[in-house]
Parts: sequence; structure tokens; C-alpha cells
Amino acid sequence: MKVGTKKDIFDCLQGMKVYAPVGEKLRFGEVKSADEIGSPESIPLSPKEAFVPQDETLFFYDRPGDPSSIKEPDNVEQFAVWGLHPCDAKAMQLIGKVYTEGNYTDTYFAKRYEASVKIVIGCPHPRQTCFCGSFDGMGPFSEVGSDIFLIPLDSDRFLIKGTTEIGEKLIASLPDATDIDIAKGEKQKKRGEDAIDRSVPTDGLEKTMENLFDNEDFWGDLHHRCLGCGICTYVCPSCYCFDIQDERIGDKYRRYRVWDSCQFGLFTLEASGHNPRPTQKERIRQRMMHKLSFFKIRYGDDQLCVGCGRCVTECPTGIDIRNVAKRADAYLKANAK
Ligand code: SF4
Ligand code: SF4
Repeated sequence: MKVGTKKDIFDCLQGMKVYAPVGEKLRFGEVKSADEIGSPESIPLSPKEAFVPQDETLFFYDRPGDPSSIKEPDNVEQFAVWGLHPCDAKAMQLIGKVYTEGNYTDTYFAKRYEASVKIVIGCPHPRQTCFCGSFDGMGPFSEVGSDIFLIPLDSDRFLIKGTTEIGEKLIASLPDATDIDIAKGEKQKKRGEDAIDRSVPTDGLEKTMENLFDNEDFWGDLHHRCLGCGICTYVCPSCYCFDIQDERIGDKYRRYRVWDSCQFGLFTLEASGHNPRPTQKERIRQRMMHKLSFFKIRYGDDQLCVGCGRCVTECPTGIDIRNVAKRADAYLKANAK
């Protein structure tokens, strides 16, 4: 276990691009010095955009319909992402399941994930809306998906652990932590573990929700409050849907993808004009079902929600996924009697 400041860690990353929370921009972006690194708590967006950019060029081409004129974008060089929380690191793994398991590999995501050094910060003071501890194997100090794991000791001093070979190599020159530092780190850890909300019933939730899919009584008028703004999906670290478009730039073209949202009416509109999710009722249900049921049923281990609480904080009308899970659990218990 090592110890150091933000600057000490930044210096270990010499030569790499570093993405971190940038306060004035309210999002993750490239930083050139440790001084520019803000607090992940102060920005609404997750670090997802370092792995799945909001606007990503897939390829350039000179002439429509001529595959020989296609040029791939530059290769991705090794880069570091500072300030993922444990929930964010887990979310990147879940996106990885969708993008890289099965018959097709999304090479854009795979290359970025592979090239990234993930610097994850544990949470001694989880926000009131955080509930990662409600999910199996997760919590505010889970090291899953990290390369370097930080435990904040005070405002600019960290216990530092290399959790992968590359992580260990990068921090090798930092001084070893003292017993006092380690004891302080343990206290911080306990503080976070004690504070995290574990009250959201997630055990067997996928089946509970599946049984409620068609239940008008359960879904009630939730959708009346949903504006279809898509904010919940943009701030969510584990939402991964995108749209593909082409644009002309001078006498050349590019094909790119941009984040999309299941909360938009056009998302499922088919060329025939038919829309299988014609109203917000079906769209908000889809989001809740995907997060709390469908993904786990399909992939086996995890819910697609990691309990980061961002959608709870940012939804302009106060729609709260925790309440949907709690109501589902209560509804089934009440109706089982
Ligand atoms: S749930 Fe909230 S944030 Fe999401 S689309 Fe509806 S109103 Fe917007
Ligand atoms: S709490 Fe909301 S934003 Fe966070 S992972 Fe779950 S669904 Fe996504």
C-alpha cells in the first residue's frame, strides 16, 4: 500500500492523457495538470464518456458507397481516467458485457477499455441518494474494475493500491503507507460501509419485476410525471444506447455515433411508422425493467443499475428508481398473502 497526493499520482501517469472531473465544465474531460482535477461529487455526468464518448467517429470516407475510401480513426493510446467511483467502474464492466460478449465485439469500446488505466476513489461519505450497497458484491469500497484504488485520507492525501499489474507498476515509486495511514484508511472505509444505503430490495428483484410487467395497477401513473427528457439515461454510467449518423465535412464524410435514449419517442420508431413503445408509459417501464430485470435475466449475475443515484438526483420531476424497486417488492409481498 502506497501513500501520496493528487499531484504525486498525476506524476506517475507521465505521458498519458488523463481524463478527470473538470469543475467548470461539469463533466469529465482531459486535464493537463493535477490542479485542474475537480471532485467527482461536483459534476452530474459520470466518467462513462471517457469510455463511450458522447460523439464518436466510427470512420471517415471520401465518397458515399465506396468502401475503398474508408479511413479508420487513429488508434487509441493508453490513457488514465481519474475519479471513477466503485459504482462507475462496475458500470464500465457491465457495458463491456454488452459490447464485447456474444457474436460481435464493439472494437471501439474494447480498445478504449483495454487502453485505460482506471483510477477509482472509494467513498467514505456516500451521498444520501447512493445505494450501491444494495447490490450483491458491491459497496463504496469495492475495488472491482479498478487498476489503481484510492482511499481518501484527507482533502489531498490518499492511500493508494495497485489492483492490477499495470496499476502496481505505475505507482511503484511512491512511498509506502505507514501503519497510521493504513489505520486511518480502515476508518474511512468503515465510515462509508456504515453509511451506504442497503435498503433497496434487489434480491430476486428481476423476477419480481418480470411478474409486474403487465400490471397496470403497479405502474399506475408513473409516466405522467416523466417528461421524456432523457436526463436519467445521459447521467447513468451503465446506459449504453447510441444512434448512428453520417455528416459531410467539406468534401469528405464521417460516420459517427452519439448517445441515444430509450426515453425518446423516436428511439423505437420504425420506418413503417409503427412505434412499439408509443407513449411515455412504455418508455419509462422499459427503462425500469432494463435496469432492474431484463439485464440480469439475460446476463445472469448483475442488475444493470449500480446504485450511483445520479438519475435520482438529476430527474427534474423526482422519479426515483429506488422507490420503484421498493414498491415492486412490497406489491408482491402484499399480493402473495
Ligand atoms: S425519468 Fe426523469 S430524467 Fe428520466 S426521462 Fe423521465 S423526467 Fe426525464
Ligand atoms: S441509480 Fe440511476 S443513474 Fe445510477 S446506475 Fe442506477 S439507473 Fe443508472
